[in-house]
Amino acid sequence: MKVLFKEIQIQTNERTEIIDITGKVEDIINRSEITNGLCVIHTVHSTAAIIINEHEKGLKKDIVRKIREDFPKDAGWLHNEVDDNADAHLASTYIGPTKIFPIQRGKIIRGPWQNIFLLELDGPRTRRVMVEIIGE
Ligand code: ZN
Repeated sequence: MKVLFKEIQIQTNERTEIIDITGKVEDIINRSEITNGLCVIHTVHSTAAIIINEHEKGLKKDIVRKIREDFPKDAGWLHNEVDDNADAHLASTYIGPTKIFPIQRGKIIRGPWQNIFLLELDGPRTRRVMVEIIGE
């Protein structure tokens, strides 16, 4: 079994933003010598997440709108007394920081409309996404 670990750094520009990292993840897989296994994509932040979906301009705006509707900035959150970003922590908690894909014959197994995105929930910041490939 082989393991390859890489870190991607991403500078975000908005408070809530969806950034396509599919190309960066696939570059890492293509350069690895692992042809069959798993790829773990994990962001090490409590106010960001990893999501999988279609890269379409309107849909990206719909996702941001839905997050704002489901996790309003000011709703009497107790954490806002400390840090003023409870909405970002809540969204990250429910959406999740990690996704896993199978790798077969050197390629990530994903549908044609399944791109990989870093979801920024409390930007702008510099974000770290860890990519670990485990296999043979
Ligand atoms: Zn906080």
